[in-house]
Amino acid sequence: MTKTSPIISTPTKNVGESFNQLPLAPAMLANLQQLEYLSMTPIQATSLPITLAGHDLIAQAKTGSGKTAAFALPLLTNLNPRRFAVQAMVLCPTRELADQVTQEIRRLARFADNIKILSLVGGSTMRPQRDSLEHGAHIVVGTPGRIMDHLERGSLKLDALNTLVLDEADRMLDMGFYDDIAFVVKQCPAQRQTMLFSATYPDGIARLARQFMRDPQEVKLLEQHEESKIRQRFYKVDNENRLQAVAQLLKHYRPVSTLAFCNTKQQCRSLLEVLHAQGIKALTLNGDMEQRERDQVLIQFANRSCSVLVATDVAARGLDIEQLEAVINVDVTPDPEIHIHRIGRTGRADEDGWALNLCSPADRNRIIAIAQMMHIEPDWQDLEALQSAADTPLVPPMVTLQILGGRKEKIRPGDVLGALTGEAGFTREQIGKITVTDMSTYVAVVRNIARQAVKKLSEGKVKGKTVKVRALED
Ligand code: ADP
Ligand code: MG
Repeated sequence: MTKTSPIISTPTKNVGESFNQLPLAPAMLANLQQLEYLSMTPIQATSLPITLAGHDLIAQAKTGSGKTAAFALPLLTNLNPRRFAVQAMVLCPTRELADQVTQEIRRLARFADNIKILSLVGGSTMRPQRDSLEHGAHIVVGTPGRIMDHLERGSLKLDALNTLVLDEADRMLDMGFYDDIAFVVKQCPAQRQTMLFSATYPDGIARLARQFMRDPQEVKLLEQHEESKIRQRFYKVDNENRLQAVAQLLKHYRPVSTLAFCNTKQQCRSLLEVLHAQGIKALTLNGDMEQRERDQVLIQFANRSCSVLVATDVAARGLDIEQLEAVINVDVTPDPEIHIHRIGRTGRADEDGWALNLCSPADRNRIIAIAQMMHIEPDWQDLEALQSAADTPLVPPMVTLQILGGRKEKIRPGDVLGALTGEAGFTREQIGKITVTDMSTYVAVVRNIARQAVKKLSEGKVKGKTVKVRALED
């Protein structure tokens, strides 16, 4: 039996302190400085002293808390760049998350030359991944299924591995990856450091820890939001008016981007219908979607051309959205920790955020539990008192244009920006986020030039070629 020594902590010592006190290489510290990582986040401050000392770790912390650096710094410290073999592996639940982690580790690895980091995910062919592996990689980041494929075909060797990370472990379990993870972990050398990160702590996690970790230390960060930034309000509704009330809230508060949480997939579908009927641009995420559809939804939401993203907790796991004016709890969750996790996605950085909750009489005990855990007195407001600027519809400021052609055609964001601001004559300020995927490029443009921009791009050229373009609007 493995015993665990939990450090249950609300953010404690070291928080806000600089990385300089940690046993990190001077070049690494200089790089952190360059990245403007001036002080540690709570999860970093609590876990790095443990992991840099070589211990196994189980860490529970929410999305956006800086978990990647918390495992990347020890992983990079354990690495010998002159040894051409896979020395660290990170398992992630989805391709998007694996890509995010790969990018973040690349930034953090800049302090040294020639650290090769490879992303091994499904959805693209095995061949190029096999070739890259043959050329030698120091770190692999991937989804359990794809990593397993490579192990079975012998293209991935783990004899030199010294660090294993399970990122978003609860989500991987939700997705049914237990057996794949077990298969992969059994191929790793027994002498290694294992770190497990998770937003929640379901039973499967304890099982993973017992089977695959050595005397892990536990770190759990209870969330604390700065009250001033998230303004939380509670509205009484009856169940039959719940979905309509969401539209009322949106028309009153007029947030540019809102994440609306429902407790079930069916409720998500129903809400989407109600919002569409009101002319509100809303999209939803669910587990049955193909990767390409998922990408399109996330891109449109992140670039501000979709007002509302409707999701369950499972579907929204791991999403890190920079600017989110509001979170609406369409259904109140029975778990107060999940509630805190949901609303913590708004009010980031210097922005204020709204957390708006729709509560039926049956939700009473849930609200009491939330109020107790958050040490708040609920601010009850009246739906009837909401003003709606009914004559000005809620319209997202941007429109997403899809250009057929992406990474495979070697298109880069600069090519698209160039095409729009060059001959087409638009200004930099009229162009938003540009996202290049394997097959398509997505560019957000301000709404009133969308039609013109489609026309100009279709008539002109991107990277010397004629392209097909369409606006993602229904
Ligand atoms: P998580 O995995 O917990 O969801 P990430 O590791 O993706 O969070 O980090 C979220 C964001 O915060 C990233 O953009 C990352 O670059 C940034 N970040 C992480 N740690 C720091 C830090 N100490 N100082 C400044 N920014 C940081
Ligand atoms: Mg993460």
